[in-house]
Amino acid sequence: MGNIIDGKQLSLRLKGEMAEQVKALETQYGRVPSLAVILVGENPASQSYVRGKIKAAEQVGLRSELITMPADVSEATLLAEIDRLNADALTDGVLVQLPLPKHIDEERVIDAIALEKDVDGFHPANVANLWLGKPCIEPCTPKGIMQMIAECGFDVAGKKAVVVGRSNIVGKPISKLLLDANATVTIAHSRTQNLAEVCREADILVAAVGRKHIITADMIKPGAIVIDVGVNRDPETGKLCGDVDTAAAQQVASYITPVPGGVGPMTITMLMKNTIECYLNRVTK
Ligand code: NDP
Repeated sequence: MGNIIDGKQLSLRLKGEMAEQVKALETQYGRVPSLAVILVGENPASQSYVRGKIKAAEQVGLRSELITMPADVSEATLLAEIDRLNADALTDGVLVQLPLPKHIDEERVIDAIALEKDVDGFHPANVANLWLGKPCIEPCTPKGIMQMIAECGFDVAGKKAVVVGRSNIVGKPISKLLLDANATVTIAHSRTQNLAEVCREADILVAAVGRKHIITADMIKPGAIVIDVGVNRDPETGKLCGDVDTAAAQQVASYITPVPGGVGPMTITMLMKNTIECYLNRVTK
């Protein structure tokens, strides 16, 4: 039976290590790294994600600032706030929680975040640097996935990876990170023919679709590592579930990430790591 990669446990360990690092950084540079989070509106899921981020910042010993704005805030006001944070010498990371209300242009907002403070790794220049193989801030979810794979002691080089999903925040960047680790990568999506057959080729299978149990046990190669990024609400139980039928998949996979408690906590933990990276880039410049 496959092992569960416990993202919660791993996150706790990494946050503990970062807390030690932050203490040392404060001694060395006279201040701790700081993260500013902007939350627009009252979307309960966004509120919950933001709470998690602020809590993690506290655990790691970062300074955090939460800025809340009403759902009808103007784009100009939001952009002005980003400008203020960009100019603030004591702010190292700026994050705007997505999605934003329809009247606000998300692309314009992401573009407005100073590249050196782009802790989410969504800025177009960061994305370009990622694809060009230049130094960059890697987006949090893919970065956390790579850390989880490394944790299994699994050498990705030369292995076949299949990523199901091609979004800008998960599917595409995790494909690039796997490619950088010398995997042979296939990206599947809604137009892929015979998804099951494609998935069965994978030594590493990443599911980032957002559809309950789209990945069933028969789609998994025996011994594969399965990373379940999906966060779905089970319509029958109301509970959170992933894209993978975990219980059945566990009989076939060597390692599998649970939902909840897998990729989710690691995403937040990598945000802390990125904030420290942005801080280090700034204080050592
Ligand atoms: P998107 O909706 O942006 O992308 C979903 C992808 O799945 C698309 O590329 C789509 O293909 C593909 N897809 C849809 N239906 C099928 C199908 N039947 N067969 C194969 N591929 C299909 O989602 P995100 O990438 O933003 O998120 C994916 C999931 O991960 C969601 O559940 C989200 O909540 C979760 N998530 C979790 C995070 C975490 O930290 N745990 C972080 C971010 C996301 P096409 O491009 O052809 O439409």
